Amino acid sequence: MEQMYKSLGVSPQVYQFGEKTLEALKERFQAIDRMAEYNQGKVLLAMQENKVSAACFAATTGYGYDDIGREKLEKVYAHVFHTEAALVRPQITCGTHALAVALSANLLPGDELLSPAGGPYDTLEEVIGIRESPCSLKEYGISYRQVDLLPDGGFDYPRIREAITEKTKLITIQRSKGYATRPSFSVAQIGALIAFCKEVKPDVIVMVDNCYGEFVEAREPSDVGADMIVGSLIKNPGGGLAPIGGYICGTEKCVSRCAFRLSAPGLGQEVGANLGLLPALYQGFFLAPTVVAGALKGAIFAANLYESLGYRVIPTGSEDRHDIIQAVELGSPEAMLAFCEGIQAAAPVDSYATPVPWDMPGYDAQVVMAAGAFVQGSSIELSADGPIRPPYAVYFQGGLTWYHAKLGILMSLEKLVQAGLVQLPA
Ligand SMILES: *Cc1c(COP(=O)(O)O)cnc(C)c1O
Repeated sequence: MEQMYKSLGVSPQVYQFGEKTLEALKERFQAIDRMAEYNQGKVLLAMQENKVSAACFAATTGYGYDDIGREKLEKVYAHVFHTEAALVRPQITCGTHALAVALSANLLPGDELLSPAGGPYDTLEEVIGIRESPCSLKEYGISYRQVDLLPDGGFDYPRIREAITEKTKLITIQRSKGYATRPSFSVAQIGALIAFCKEVKPDVIVMVDNCYGEFVEAREPSDVGADMIVGSLIKNPGGGLAPIGGYICGTEKCVSRCAFRLSAPGLGQEVGANLGLLPALYQGFFLAPTVVAGALKGAIFAANLYESLGYRVIPTGSEDRHDIIQAVELGSPEAMLAFCEGIQAAAPVDSYATPVPWDMPGYDAQVVMAAGAFVQGSSIELSADGPIRPPYAVYFQGGLTWYHAKLGILMSLEKLVQAGLVQLPA
């Protein structure tokens, strides 16, 4: 094995250091496997009860009327997430698009959007109009209010109560930390926040940005009161096989508005050809619980490895997981680049490329990304990225298999050692 890793570019010293870290993680990995087993059951049951058949995999073109495969896939998603309705479409281009559809479909001029748990994900700043952009919610007369988290990462309930007014139409909660170094929220924490908000205002709509959170726990935010959960198919629920797409699951009322926004008033969910992509969407969803388990093992391995070298890691090596993201504060641009170089070098695709920072649309600092992915930009595949700004944290995620995640992490450490930025303990 050591020889195989050596051929792949990992020195025996780094490999052995990794093995030592892994010895202590057996029980945690077992718990992750149990979770995957449970969630696999959830997905299987949904496919069986909805009588998924070979006919569901046929391609449709043009308007895509009477697309039974598309309709059934949406029923399967709704079953798994325990919602009345679901919109799952390749026409949703990415997570930001899904979130923009969900927000703009359910907010009208004069309404206010509230984020009670700190700032939203970078790309949503332009959607909302925190940073100016044509067609932002702000341009359409929708105001935005935010309540920051307490210094300990908790919810500031008194200020949230104050911020909910008769204008507040929709409350958005982001499960995963995104490019922030706050903790990600558990489903239980999100449930408590939703219950509080609905007590203050029973008819408020709560949307949860569920990106990176799917199948990490046995429950999803839709099980604890969210009216809509939203995510990307090139993250967890696509299982690495979906080549594009997004989903919005929630109440019939909210989701049907999303469908009218996505296509056109009057058309809604009835149009949208599947272009032959459904087999990948079904199969990816079927594999998603195990793929997420592999990614979680990678995140926990990375946390423990880098923590033992003295880096601040979020979450810590021993904390419970609520998403698949692992942040490692590397403290310098050079270390960020070396880390990303290692992830890239471990990839099945474009392993010979060197990641360089660029001005990625939607972000206000330069971003470096390592992703040798089969699907462009897919972050359920092994990837690492981060904005080049203090505290110079890389956000590591994914891995279609645990073994690939492990190699990537070992390679990242190898590159840091080679650059003289890390010294392994003797
Ligand atoms: C990735 C992500 C998004 C945006 O998704 P894209 O597919 O990159 O547009 C939004 N919110 C969170 C928390 C994310 O992780």
